[in-house]
Amino acid sequence: MKKIFLISLAIIGLSMGANQTLIAQTTKATTTLSKEEQKVMDYIDANMPRAIALLKESVDINSGTLNIEGVKKVGAIFAREFEKANFKTKWVPMPDSLRRAGHLVASIGFNADQNAAASSKTKKGKKLFLIGHLDTVFEPDMPANPFTMINDSTATGQGVTDMKGGDVVMIIALQALQAQGLLKDANIIAYLTGDEEHAGYPREVSRGDFIETAKQTEIALAFEGANGLNSVATARRGASGWLLNVKAKTGHSSGVFTPYAGYGAIYEAARIINEFRVQLSTEKYLTFNPGVFIGGSEMNYDATKATGTAIGKTNIISPAVTVTGDLRFLTEEQKINARKKMQVIVDNSLAGTKATIHFEDGIPSMAPTEGNNQVLSVINSISMDMGAGATVAGDPGSRGAGDISYIAAYVDCIDGLGALGRGAHAPGETIHLNQLPFLIKRAALTIYRLSR
Ligand SMILES: [Zn+2]
Repeated sequence: MKKIFLISLAIIGLSMGANQTLIAQTTKATTTLSKEEQKVMDYIDANMPRAIALLKESVDINSGTLNIEGVKKVGAIFAREFEKANFKTKWVPMPDSLRRAGHLVASIGFNADQNAAASSKTKKGKKLFLIGHLDTVFEPDMPANPFTMINDSTATGQGVTDMKGGDVVMIIALQALQAQGLLKDANIIAYLTGDEEHAGYPREVSRGDFIETAKQTEIALAFEGANGLNSVATARRGASGWLLNVKAKTGHSSGVFTPYAGYGAIYEAARIINEFRVQLSTEKYLTFNPGVFIGGSEMNYDATKATGTAIGKTNIISPAVTVTGDLRFLTEEQKINARKKMQVIVDNSLAGTKATIHFEDGIPSMAPTEGNNQVLSVINSISMDMGAGATVAGDPGSRGAGDISYIAAYVDCIDGLGALGRGAHAPGETIHLNQLPFLIKRAALTIYRLSR
């Protein structure tokens, strides 16, 4: 084993030391793995230089969500790698009006004959849906950040963790299983969207095929960034939006607070926003944030550009305010209850004012379920068998919404199986390469044990 580390570390230019110890520990303590599983571990150790090379190759192509050519190029690279693992690949195009590249879909199994055979022979094996994305938040007009080692175990680059690193975890894990002949009875679909960071509208089109495809499966595993080595996500919050409009009588400021002149739109909007905070801000997993607040004598708001203008004078009672905000929640029930309370606050108008609020759905939540916990228990036993300690459910409050949320109502879900790094969505995003072998191994064993 040591020889393999020497070779791999030399090739990717890492120096020896603490990292070697860490990687060696995870492989040495594998006494409770089967022979086949140990071979998968060995394959992954031996192929780490190739994993890093694939990461570099994909990171060095800009694939900002709106860079259609770039997203397709990254899709072609990963398609080539799925095909090495005997997966069939196809490209799901998007209509031109969406201005998005489309999605890469790779699958193994799932033909009628094999399914019939598989269901009689290996009833236990679950149909899996693996989720990745090809795009990043970095568009071509932003400063380039090619794959660069910044110390002996950390690299930077656009999308290096979010989520080209996660895609590489998924792909190398599948190649490792294929190399040992362990995917023969498996039914797996890998779905790598081209617009996770900014999904095309309407969402029924940009996520329609994604949702329908997921419904053919039983368990979804998403490879968004890991929040540490010993936790995965069994729940993610959903995101939605709201738009508050307040209209009020206008008049000379000297009459404000009187029953005749009323309070004006700015006081009323301020009351509403503050009351949201007072009544709802301590509820666990619920957050709402006003992002734009515009008021005055004359104002306009352009929702498509998230911009607006206002003109006002200190001696005029404001007749109009617009506020927009988000609302994040863990379950549909929590979202609905929050909206009801907000509506009551909005309806309780001050004199001379009238407010309306409009709620808009965004991305659903991935609620914590018993099914998700059962998948977690499989992953937990894998990390115990690897000698890496227990794996627990991460804090759902620490994550935003993701692609897996669109299908959480239909299949059991786990997210956060991808790479470990820092600063996702910010220039200088990094990945911790010394933890990558463990994450690929855990992913491989998770796919293997669930699919057989
Ligand atoms: Zn991501």
